Amino acid sequence: MPPLLELRNVKMYYSTSRGVVRAVDGISFRLNKGEAMALVGESGSGKSSLAFTIIRLLPRNVAEIGGEIFFYDDELGTIDLMKMSEEEIRRKIRWKKISMVFQASMNALNPVLRVRDQMIEPLVLHLGLSEDEALKISEEALRSVGLTKDVLMRYPFELSGGMKQRVVIAMAIMMKPKLIILDEPTSALDVITQANIMNLLKELKTKYNLSYILITHDIALASEIADKIGVMYAGKLVELAPADVFFYKPKHPYSQKLLAAVPTLREEKTIEYIPGDVPSLITPPSGCRFHPRCPYAIKGKCDKEEPVMKHIEESEVACWLY
Ligand code: ATP
Ligand code: SF4
Ligand code: MG
Repeated sequence: MPPLLELRNVKMYYSTSRGVVRAVDGISFRLNKGEAMALVGESGSGKSSLAFTIIRLLPRNVAEIGGEIFFYDDELGTIDLMKMSEEEIRRKIRWKKISMVFQASMNALNPVLRVRDQMIEPLVLHLGLSEDEALKISEEALRSVGLTKDVLMRYPFELSGGMKQRVVIAMAIMMKPKLIILDEPTSALDVITQANIMNLLKELKTKYNLSYILITHDIALASEIADKIGVMYAGKLVELAPADVFFYKPKHPYSQKLLAAVPTLREEKTIEYIPGDVPSLITPPSGCRFHPRCPYAIKGKCDKEEPVMKHIEESEVACWLY
């Protein structure tokens, strides 16, 4: 079986008045059908940019985009999304094959438009369905996320945060896509509602054999659902590992630091902070981008040569220590 999604050396740079921002800088990974990958890393490491590159929703100031994004589909066969036009992506891929729950999207629901109109709009406008068909699909999707069809007639301001997030998830699954990219799907919610939404996502994953790319700052949350973990640092993927292996034995020094910064309720431990800031993506550090913050940096090596991804046991890691 081919993987559902395979990225090879994917790049996406923005152009700004201060220079070119190398937000996604040579990312490769595979994701299988029914698999959830959590993408973690500090703010500004390029997680959302990578998501927008996959689904090709890019701003005007893109300076460069490159690499290959293979998507396997029973109907379409194996296609390189990078070779498809905007129009083809919009017609054949978005919503139907790959959908996205955007960062802060529940707050992006228009408060003065009924849920009904917001749910059917993409179906009618982009996919050319009739209003009746669109309504039927919306009702069914709401049911799958544990809401009743009454919600269709409500305005977002009448719904709780958790209900709004369910609506947004219903929209993401309504065309039965194979892959959903979720960008911080629960970060605006209280912990109980977060847990409910995570349970819903688990349920939907099993029911529809969905694959997820779950972008999150919250490593504990990632551990709830992820089959594998990808760690991004300054536009690069630095580690990719099965979740159990990652939590037990993170290999990249940055991954180790990230995990050491997670508080636990059960055991007492000193929380470590990662010194320094995420580097500029306009003039990233030479060699390994983590070298200015890495306690193990090898002088003359890490600051000069860029480490490539290597298979170490079940993980892949880009670090000169291996
Ligand atoms: P967060 O966790 O805060 O959401 P992120 O990992 O999703 O962060 P991105 O939003 O992808 O990070 O940003 C990666 C880099 O690209 C940052 O340096 C950011 O400032 C820059 N960036 C993002 N969007 C644009 C844009 N439209 N134009 C120029 N630079 C951008
Ligand atoms: Fe640290 Fe060097 Fe590994 Fe980078 S390559 S993480 S600087 S040891
Ligand atoms: Mg983001």
